[in-house]
Amino acid sequence: MMAQYLEIKADHPDALLFYRMGDFYEMFFDDAVAAAEALDIALTKRGKHQGTDIPMCGVPVHSAESYLLTLIRKGFRVAVCEQMEDPAEAKKRGSKAVVRREVVRLVTPGTLTEESLLEARRHNYLAAFVEIRGEGGLAWCDISTGALRVMACPFVRLGPELARLSPREVLVPEGAELALPEEVVTEHNRLAFDSEAARGRVERFFDVASLDAFGQFSRAEVAAMGALIDYLDLTQKGRLPLLRPPVQESEAQTVRIDAATRRNLELSQALAGGRAGSLLAVIDRTVTAGGGRLLERRLGAPSRRIEVVTGRLDAVSDLVADELLRVDLREALRRAPDLDRALSRLALDRGGPRDLAAVRTGLEVAARIEARMGSELSAGLLEARRNLCGLSGLREMLDAALVAEPPLLARDGGFVAAGHLAELDEAQALRDEGRSVVAGMQVEFAEATGIGSLKVKHNNVLGYFIEVTATHAEKMLSPPLSETFIHRQTTANAVRFTTVELSSLETKILNAGARAIELEKEVFAELRQQVIAKAAEVGQVARALAEVDLAAALADLAVGENWVRPVLDEGRAFTVKGGRHPVVEAALKGAGEPFVANDCDLTAHRLQLLTGPNMAGKSTFLRQNALIAILAQMGSYVPARKAEIGLVSQIFSRVGASDDLARGRSTFMVEMVETAAILNQADDRALVILDEIGRGTATYDGLSIAWATLEHLHDVNRCRAIFATHYHELTALAAELAEAENLTVAVKEWQGDVVFLHEVRKGAADRSYGVQVAKLAGLPEAVVARARAVLERLEEGERGKDRRVLIDDLPLFSVPSAPAPTAHSEVEAFLQDVNPDEMTAREALDLIYELKGRL
Ligand code: ADP
Repeated sequence: MMAQYLEIKADHPDALLFYRMGDFYEMFFDDAVAAAEALDIALTKRGKHQGTDIPMCGVPVHSAESYLLTLIRKGFRVAVCEQMEDPAEAKKRGSKAVVRREVVRLVTPGTLTEESLLEARRHNYLAAFVEIRGEGGLAWCDISTGALRVMACPFVRLGPELARLSPREVLVPEGAELALPEEVVTEHNRLAFDSEAARGRVERFFDVASLDAFGQFSRAEVAAMGALIDYLDLTQKGRLPLLRPPVQESEAQTVRIDAATRRNLELSQALAGGRAGSLLAVIDRTVTAGGGRLLERRLGAPSRRIEVVTGRLDAVSDLVADELLRVDLREALRRAPDLDRALSRLALDRGGPRDLAAVRTGLEVAARIEARMGSELSAGLLEARRNLCGLSGLREMLDAALVAEPPLLARDGGFVAAGHLAELDEAQALRDEGRSVVAGMQVEFAEATGIGSLKVKHNNVLGYFIEVTATHAEKMLSPPLSETFIHRQTTANAVRFTTVELSSLETKILNAGARAIELEKEVFAELRQQVIAKAAEVGQVARALAEVDLAAALADLAVGENWVRPVLDEGRAFTVKGGRHPVVEAALKGAGEPFVANDCDLTAHRLQLLTGPNMAGKSTFLRQNALIAILAQMGSYVPARKAEIGLVSQIFSRVGASDDLARGRSTFMVEMVETAAILNQADDRALVILDEIGRGTATYDGLSIAWATLEHLHDVNRCRAIFATHYHELTALAAELAEAENLTVAVKEWQGDVVFLHEVRKGAADRSYGVQVAKLAGLPEAVVARARAVLERLEEGERGKDRRVLIDDLPLFSVPSAPAPTAHSEVEAFLQDVNPDEMTAREALDLIYELKGRL
């Protein structure tokens, strides 16, 4: 057996080998050590190899899925090796013969299909990237839904695309030195990326004479698709998933959003990680998993084509207008199962009766929705409606064949409805009749033996047996009873018997039972075949349901949150009246505070320069306008009173200081890299939001960089942009640049404190209120007072335009204040020893944390 193990293991060096032994998957050697630690299960040993103990651990087959999940999450790949014959078969070949075993599947993050291993509302993409003669190709598929897509993708575009798709696994040719995140990269055989071989492989997969049937693909695109299929073949061991023909995506159709912008805008993931707090989480009102996935796809790739966006908006408008219809559709959709994923499991022969039932329910829901929709709808919904009908034959067949609530696995039967197959009904009747006859025999045996406590029982080892307590053993074991009752087993308290009659009845029950299961398995195979034959149509139903779900969900959101339909055209306008930030608004609502809506007009002046103190709401304003553009172009209503937007081609953001220390870049460096990317790429249809450029360096450096950046955006990129800055000096620039205008976020000063109004108005901020904000933040009174004094002197000097003299002049050590009070608290005592003038900005910040910590 070990020889067999080692041979199989040698073929799968980089995967853990789940080696099937009876009811367990066992792991040996290093695999066992690694798995025991990762799964926190006991490490034991079994036998010896070359004189040393063999480490071993195992997991029960029936709960293997949850262990698989843990292992995959921890970055392992698992080769599942099954017994390919009955151990009894092997015995026939000789007493030492080993059961034949084969790896039936390689489980990797990108090739999962089990419900418990997948996130319902997210795609699980497997991608492949290759460069051939300077041309890049990216292909990706989700075998759990059957989607396959491909695009031409130069290496520089790979980062943004991967950020959009977040694939679980990216295949690259072995040895290709690409700077990609290690945890998702899988190096795959170079030969699989050969474009000629790949072409043949893809053509065979889709059974077409030429790939031209699906579009014109570059060699790199074909190679990437070919590699995907090769890898699926390898991991699924020849059982290929259903994939729909490849859809070619082109950059020109969607809004370009780079990885940093996606992250900054927290589209589908919050900066803190996870879905909560992201735009996606706030706007997702879909009620089906397929609808949820469609929303994520749309949000990831807003469209640039007016007819596409208008079509989607029309669908939402229909359902905004008809509340009754919307409510009814959503009610019906709630029952819809995940058709796509059920279908993919059935195709891979990993499905069970419940997946068949999911298809049945899905088709039922589809029929109901189709009937309810009516014909007074826009083109998009009407097309969905057409796709919802036409499978009544399959639905009726499944309905007649399946019980209402079938079990998960086909193995134990019990899912075929009575009346579906006469032969099966007979076998089941025979089995059940036998069981009731056995139940009746207990009375007979009790009478015959005169032992009232006699029982007829069943277990897996003995089958049916007669049991009496040990006190009656004597009587049963001696004539005349011993002539009828055949002794089977003696336990501590009981003695067990059978009779000729009982065992022949049992054989009948077993035979009938086995026959019934066999027939059910045949029915399953037949139904599965029927579903797969209609896979394309069922897939279409699934997509139509997702479309209806998404339109209804966006309509529900629009009505519930009072959003408006944006007006889009091919122009360069950007006029938002009463715009809001949906995520900040939702957070404030939770705290019972109102969100202040703000206008944004980039139509007359396409460059807006926004000044205002920290905490006033600058970043919120910047982001909300980018989000409004994205929402509009994905085909959603937007959080505003009115929005007119000329189609945006790219969205860029440079927001906040996102340290990228892991990659060895300082905050300033990251900021400059991101700014460079924007200045080099933004075209005149781009929408750019820039926050606090130049902050990470000395004042004059920073100011100069911000100044030059703004001029470049204005003169060269000629894009629409909002530029937030704390350099008040920049506001002078607005007068010089024809297309630029100043904006400020209003604050009120009240008794020395600053009150944030969060209102964006035309004009420049008069001052920065930094000292007041610092006070709000809880800086000690003495520090605030000192800061005020310094500021006053600085401002005097500013007016006199003679900084150097001023700084020399500044009374560094004289704090004009009352004598130091005696300390009352720990914090006060601590503060007495602090000399603010000797501190660097960094130390002052640390001090604030220290103080806060001592409260
Ligand atoms: P800044 O970028 O100017 O430092 P932010 O945009 O980060 O300020 O906003 C600071 C806080 O002010 C936000 O967390 C939010 O709670 C609040 N805020 C911002 N804009 C608004 C608004 N329009 N209405 C209400 N509260 C707002």
